[in-house]
Amino acid sequence: MRITVLVGGVGGARFLQGVRTLPCDVTAIVNTGDDVALHGLQICPDLDSVMYTLGGAADDERGWGRQGETWAVSRELADYGAEAPWFSLGDKDIATHLIRTQMLNAGYGLSSVTKALCQRWEPGVEMLPMSDDRVETHVLVDDDGTQRAIHFQEWWVRHRGELAAQRFIFTGAAESQPAPGVLSAIATADVVLIAPSNPVVSIAPILAVPGIREALRNGKAPVIGVSGIIDKAVVRGMADKCLTSIGVEVSAQGVGELYGARSADGLLDAWLVDTTDDGVEVPGVAVHSCPLWMSSPEATRKIVEAGLETVGIRP
Ligand code: GDP
Ligand code: CA
Repeated sequence: MRITVLVGGVGGARFLQGVRTLPCDVTAIVNTGDDVALHGLQICPDLDSVMYTLGGAADDERGWGRQGETWAVSRELADYGAEAPWFSLGDKDIATHLIRTQMLNAGYGLSSVTKALCQRWEPGVEMLPMSDDRVETHVLVDDDGTQRAIHFQEWWVRHRGELAAQRFIFTGAAESQPAPGVLSAIATADVVLIAPSNPVVSIAPILAVPGIREALRNGKAPVIGVSGIIDKAVVRGMADKCLTSIGVEVSAQGVGELYGARSADGLLDAWLVDTTDDGVEVPGVAVHSCPLWMSSPEATRKIVEAGLETVGIRP
């Protein structure tokens, strides 16, 4: 059986830790809207979160980057007054960015580069960036009465999401193409899962790549979404700030409606919410509740199995 999963970074990686325990071929389509070029390096935070987590090398306590990381290069850069001192890059992490950038400069696509990096990490799932083209999420903010667009990382990391966001813009998305393998991973899937990742800045950029939303809507595979909002709160991160700024209620109901039913121009056949959110109704969508805390790969596997059951699939 083939399972294709749409994911962002940390939440997506945790979800995949559960999905990959099933006896299935798993393909992850990963958000690259968070990507940023700094110090001449191409940095892909969500791809790396997934790769390090599934490769057993992520720092779970800090929530991002590598275990046993050191910060000598970042400190040196700061002492030179280099750009973006608010974005820390670990020494081990920098090695990944050096290899990636070198390969990109040599003409390889991001999907090929990702595959090469994964030879070391053996994530146990096929990891595909949503696109080989550069797509960057920018945030339109109101900065003391002046409107300006800043890179998502500047909004998220430097300002901790505290500048009121008016809009998220996926720069380059309209001209981008799905990475090789993305459309066929959707077309040949037996089921597509939308991880409980941030709907606004992790899942929406993937859906903004022309062709992906259509492939999901027209594919034979049922699409099952999992809520990252439990009892009207985010489990971690700042999805609440993102949802509020696009006028969507921070709730399993709000996000379910945002994705919408396949039968009504949306995406979902089924929507999984936490037991505390029992009673959510999205017209045209089979809503099912079960505990959604991803406390261990086994707990997450149960979430996935519950999702598959709603559409009558047994792995
Ligand atoms: P990021 O790119 O690193 O921000 O990570 P993602 O976008 O993939 O995931 C972030 C989302 O995962 C947040 O909105 C969280 O609410 C959600 N999340 C994190 N842990 C859990 C969990 O245990 N259960 C559920 N249902 N959602 C979670
Ligand atoms: Ca992310």
